[in-house]
Amino acid sequence: MRFPSLQPFTRDNFRVDLIEEDFRNRVWEKGSKVDWQQVCDCPCGTTSTVGGNTSSVRDFPLDCPLCFGRGKVYTDPQEITVMMTSSSSSEEVYNVWGEFSSGTVYITFLPENLPLEWDKIVLKEGSRLYSESRIRKNTIEPLRYPIIKRKIVSGSESSSTTPVESEVGVTLCYRGIDRGISSTIPLVEGVDFSVTADGRIDWTLGVTSGKAPKVGERYSVRYFSRPVFVVRDFPYVRRDFYEEVRRELVYQNYPIKVLAVLEHLGAFTTQNPPPGESP
Ligand SMILES: [Zn+2]
Repeated sequence: MRFPSLQPFTRDNFRVDLIEEDFRNRVWEKGSKVDWQQVCDCPCGTTSTVGGNTSSVRDFPLDCPLCFGRGKVYTDPQEITVMMTSSSSSEEVYNVWGEFSSGTVYITFLPENLPLEWDKIVLKEGSRLYSESRIRKNTIEPLRYPIIKRKIVSGSESSSTTPVESEVGVTLCYRGIDRGISSTIPLVEGVDFSVTADGRIDWTLGVTSGKAPKVGERYSVRYFSRPVFVVRDFPYVRRDFYEEVRRELVYQNYPIKVLAVLEHLGAFTTQNPPPGESP
């Protein structure tokens, strides 16, 4: 059975168009600065043919200089302004406890910044904690995300009424030692390692004192970084329409709102490796 859409009786003021200038003003007033990286499929990879049948699945070589085996290429970051709203915070909670975002957000792009699924967005005016463990390869090496320094005002150990300002990047660090077990002694930023200006971990201090994990040993860190999101939508402007008088398709300058998730919750790692290094 078919159920045709019921047309309203009155078609006056049928189209409620966006006032683009108002929207732009709003974005520049309340929006967030983000770094936007556009995605494109990588043309690398080979398919195998067996008995005249060619596989439809490509193997992406890990040494592809464009995608490092990810199958997707990202442009260099471009700073743009977007509207970002959490999909998980209710206004009531916001009013009482403050703003928060969990794994998903809505991002509204200006009409000239049309997004595509898997585009990457780095929130430049935010911070979040992330934890990971990895095997040490070098003296100075990147983590999954660049470490950022965050100012925190707290009480002190001796007085809860005297504010103390500190600036931290790595809040916890542990080191694995022989036989795959861990040392019980935590490593401390500024004592056992430092953080470079571009957010990499620098083991020079710990190498000198002998407390750094050796090359090939595992370590874990809990640190501040910028929130990184990937677009998980296939957004497009649905309201382009055929102009009868001019007899042409008119493209509309509407903003695009998409759902995005934190990058580490996405289906694959979309990190761009630093120059000269594989991820
Ligand atoms: Zn490739």
